[in-house]
Amino acid sequence: MSEQIPIKVIPEEKKPKTVPKKVTVKPADDADQQHYPIRSRIYVRAVKGAIENFRRFFGFIFLALFAVIPWLTYEGQQAILFDIPEQRFNLFAITLWPQDLTVLAYIFIVAAFALFFVTTFAGRVWCGFMCPQTTWVYMFIYFEELFEGNANKRIKLDQRKMDTDKFLRKSAKQISWILISLLTAMTFVGYFTPIRELFIAVTTLDTSFWAGFSVLFFAACTYGNAGWMREIMCIHMCPYARFQSAMFDKDTFTVAYDSTRGEGRGPRSRKATTEQLQAKGLGDCIDCNLCVQVCPTGIDIRNGLQYECINCGACVDACNGVMEKMGYSKGLISFTSEHELAGGTTKIFRPKLIGYAVVLLIMSGLLVADFMNRKPLDLDIIRDRNSLYRETNEGLIENVFTLKVLNKSQKTRTFNLSISGLTSHEWIGEQRVTVGGGEVLNLPISIATDAYNLEERVTKIYFTVSTTDNDGELISIEEPAKFLYR
Ligand code: SF4
Ligand code: SF4
Repeated sequence: MSEQIPIKVIPEEKKPKTVPKKVTVKPADDADQQHYPIRSRIYVRAVKGAIENFRRFFGFIFLALFAVIPWLTYEGQQAILFDIPEQRFNLFAITLWPQDLTVLAYIFIVAAFALFFVTTFAGRVWCGFMCPQTTWVYMFIYFEELFEGNANKRIKLDQRKMDTDKFLRKSAKQISWILISLLTAMTFVGYFTPIRELFIAVTTLDTSFWAGFSVLFFAACTYGNAGWMREIMCIHMCPYARFQSAMFDKDTFTVAYDSTRGEGRGPRSRKATTEQLQAKGLGDCIDCNLCVQVCPTGIDIRNGLQYECINCGACVDACNGVMEKMGYSKGLISFTSEHELAGGTTKIFRPKLIGYAVVLLIMSGLLVADFMNRKPLDLDIIRDRNSLYRETNEGLIENVFTLKVLNKSQKTRTFNLSISGLTSHEWIGEQRVTVGGGEVLNLPISIATDAYNLEERVTKIYFTVSTTDNDGELISIEEPAKFLYR
């Protein structure tokens, strides 16, 4: 126990040289600084390149879908509506009820395995290209740049004392952020409550308490997350960032720096010959720091794979641009695998990936089969708990039930009801009902029969509900119930 752990002191000049474009905005005392390093504001520099174009295109499609989907209608109703108070989800022709838990379970399992598969294959591409946090952060940065200028101008603007120009620029940025946040929140809440009514109510300041509260709450979340929290969400709060590394292996494609090719890094003349560079021990990295300046999480990818990296590829574009200008081949930073970096080849078909793919295919098949075999109707039977049975004036034995007829489609349908299991019986109540799309009808009925037909105290009976589908085919379901006597 008395043996000391040897300490190796690293000389200053050997420490990695990184100068991220960060500006400290808040002082703290030394003790605080040791345990809770001060968050430096990141002034993300804009980048141009193929990956940036791809992300913008993807982001645009994603935003357009997010904004348009809740406005679609099907059979006169909102096509996609997660109606939580009514406990039903409308998905075009389909309405999911709490009874359809298996479909929801399949959807969640398929989504989870799709994420595992994509992460094992291509790392955190979800974070860099599809995550709403990244999409909204880039949208907020776009407006920041529109009103305050590029990264250098924004740094200078923040260091300057308040004047009219600064006030106007900051105000315009804040107004644009608040408007985007409100529109985002209204659209998001519109997935859970009819969106047309919601937009009219919000714009005329006539919302219910919960609708108004939800819009303001989600607007505040959007503004806070995309405007101020930004990389903090990805680094410290997102659970996916924590467990995604468990899915990585040496063949996962991820953004990486080729240190063999890039080191030693350092500035040089564009005209320097290979011999001159070799004599100075210089690799292809000119240490321009652009890859750090464009990084939305403020890291230096040259320090190796880091959990803060969201695989957005901005540093790839930045470095490719530099390599092009220097006349070097692109790909010093690229989407590659550990095996490839070590000089080997990436193994695409590997047991883990195949395993995820197989489970994904099976679960997707089960989900499709479940959807295909889904009937657009359902029946729940509730017995009258106040009396097990009663005798009518005619001397018949009567049992009372409430039938819950569910129309799981989006169309109004007519249903026929019948019963089997009794030799003869009298149905007291409606036997043909019409139920609106996505609605449930509570129908109280009584079944009466002669006591001579009842050999047991409990007779098993079956209620049947039937309708015709869009092609005119008969669809029916049968539910068991008990007829009680004595
Ligand atoms: S290191 Fe590169 S890929 Fe990773 S977050 Fe930063 S810019 Fe994006
Ligand atoms: S952008 Fe490329 S060349 Fe410039 S510092 Fe980064 S890795 Fe080196």
